[in-house]
Amino acid sequence: MDFVFTPEQERFRAEIREFLEKEIPPEFRRKPENNWIRGFCPELSRKLGQKGWIGLAWPKKYGGQEKSYMDRLVLTEELVCSGAPVFSHWFGDRQVGPAILAHGTEEQKQKFLTGITRGEIQFGVGMSEPEAGSDLASLQLRAIEEGDHFTINGQKVWTSGIHNAHYIYMVARTDPDTPKHRGISELVVDVNLPGITIRPLKDMTGEYDLNEVFFDNVKAPLDSLIGEKNHGWYQIAEQLDFERSGVERLMSNYPLLRDTVEYVRKAGLNKVDWIRRKLAQLEAEFEVGRLLVYRVAWMLSQGKVPNYEAAMAKGYGTAFEQRLSNAITQILGMYGQIADDSEDIPLIGRAVSAYLYCPAYTLQGGTSEILKGIVATRGLGLPTK
Ligand SMILES: Cc1cc2nc3c(=O)[nH]c(=O)nc-3n(C[C@H](O)[C@H](O)[C@H](O)COP(=O)(O)OP(=O)(O)OC[C@H]3O[C@@H](n4cnc5c(N)ncnc54)[C@H](O)[C@@H]3O)c2cc1C
Repeated sequence: MDFVFTPEQERFRAEIREFLEKEIPPEFRRKPENNWIRGFCPELSRKLGQKGWIGLAWPKKYGGQEKSYMDRLVLTEELVCSGAPVFSHWFGDRQVGPAILAHGTEEQKQKFLTGITRGEIQFGVGMSEPEAGSDLASLQLRAIEEGDHFTINGQKVWTSGIHNAHYIYMVARTDPDTPKHRGISELVVDVNLPGITIRPLKDMTGEYDLNEVFFDNVKAPLDSLIGEKNHGWYQIAEQLDFERSGVERLMSNYPLLRDTVEYVRKAGLNKVDWIRRKLAQLEAEFEVGRLLVYRVAWMLSQGKVPNYEAAMAKGYGTAFEQRLSNAITQILGMYGQIADDSEDIPLIGRAVSAYLYCPAYTLQGGTSEILKGIVATRGLGLPTK
């Protein structure tokens, strides 16, 4: 592994920074944390698409640039650290596009990949159900082939941003009569089809980006199927590696860390021993996490499959994000508990939002316990039973 970025990658980083400096709308600069999943701004995604910065590693014939995963890492690091509101293309770029690239038909690639790279098509991801989270193979939502369509019945839950999306990329049971890991397929379904109802779920920060999605006799065309019917379980494993391994699992609160360090300096709190030590420790932990994330990008760029490495990076990164929110809340003292949006409060209540949101990190994209299981079995070779 080479720890140094190439001069071209450094130039690319500078170009992205300059672009974002100009293009991030002011309303998203005020509270930049978690904007990869909470910042919905299709206009910015379209501008990034025009630059060729969505689907960066994909083939040129689908709008990609055929750049390496290390180049993509440089891009995503800048997007997340600057708080760019990129949710409208994030799922498409991160995991749906690669899934379609790996398993889709030529027509699906032309339609969806070019739409994603232009920043014009938005996706939600429908995996979890009320009785199927960690144990995803227990999913009950059915998509039964009937003539020229699938008839879909069932429910998804915790579906981030689906209320702003055009399509739901989902897993469904297409053969209810086989053992649970078989008979599952991947589908991409238009969320505007009759019979789909989206119901909002507010989290404890008071904001809204999660949903329940209900399917009541929805008729989706047969070309909604991605890859081989009843083979979805074997297709999604790789897609989950993409979901878990990105910089967003470590850097969602990076702007808060950066601005806290500045606040601490200005307020003279850097003379307080425990605060100085806490920030130094966080900085060291952050750099460790960064190397774990870099390793995954490097492996992808070498065509390797990073399944336990992605689990390690996500497990470490999300636990770090929780320690970070906790520490900053302590450092700010009483101010760290005020959720008010007022300019009179240091960091305008951002620490409270980060603190209240941070339990989600070790759940979304696979819980820490599940990730530890992957590291134990696939990484360390421990027995499964
Ligand atoms: C903010 C947020 C956004 C999300 N966005 C999406 C989305 O867009 N699309 C989507 O499909 N889902 C989404 N999810 C759902 C997420 O993927 C699930 O919450 C997660 O997979 C866990 O499933 P569960 O909530 O059903 O918990 P469970 O699976 O019921 O787990 C409960 C507890 O038991 C533990 N546990 C379960 N099984 C084991 C085991 N085998 N060994 C050890 N411990 C175990 C878990 O670690 C956890 O602590 C989101 C969740 C959050 C919090």
